[in-house]
Amino acid sequence: MEFGAELRATREQLVSFGARLAADGLAVGAAGNLSVRVGDLIAITPSGIGYDEVTPSDICLVTLAGDEVEAAETPSSELPMHLAVYGATAAAAVVHTHSAEVVALSATCTELPAVHYAITSLGGPVRVAGYVRFGSPGLADAAVAALAGRQAAILQNHGAICYGASLPAAYDRAVLLEWLARVYRLARGYGEPRILSQGELEEVSAEARRRRYGERRSQGPALPRR
Ligand code: 13P
Ligand code: ZN
Repeated sequence: MEFGAELRATREQLVSFGARLAADGLAVGAAGNLSVRVGDLIAITPSGIGYDEVTPSDICLVTLAGDEVEAAETPSSELPMHLAVYGATAAAAVVHTHSAEVVALSATCTELPAVHYAITSLGGPVRVAGYVRFGSPGLADAAVAALAGRQAAILQNHGAICYGASLPAAYDRAVLLEWLARVYRLARGYGEPRILSQGELEEVSAEARRRRYGERRSQGPALPRR
């Protein structure tokens, strides 16, 4: 796709995923933020504007160093955190939420343990980064540290950050993380949950790779049946 067309499509995609973020209850009002990397630019949601109001022209374009290229509105206050994630990982998209289960867990736990094998899609048990004020370079550092070897991290008394190879992939992780936090809370209501071992998680990852789980047949050569 031509660069200008790709930027236009990305702006529209950010607006529609912002609407989903609100509709899915992963953030309220203007909370949370989303970004996508397009070449050497980052397209990011504007700061403090509700998802019911944001339009494609409100989406800000900045360089990987954070310099504004096209920004009719103020870029998200969490731009430093998004840029730090792009700098430290192979992320093509970053999703930051204030989802309720995750925030509640963050106020009481230091980690979301492996209560279900689907946590392998996030890289394993999800760390809770210690509290640092929103929009600060310290929060960016804490998020990146908590993301080591993971595609998701929880931010204490704040929310979550997930990344992926595309905006839908990063968003799916944010939804999965919220679901896992809910399952963990429900399990704790019944008693002390059994937690999957590192060996069991590695077995799941190996089997998912073997099956190329989540890939369509049209995406690759046929697999042996079974
Ligand atoms: P912005 O509206 O500036 O993106 O901030 C929302 C938020 O989640 C801060 O952490
Ligand atoms: Zn936030």
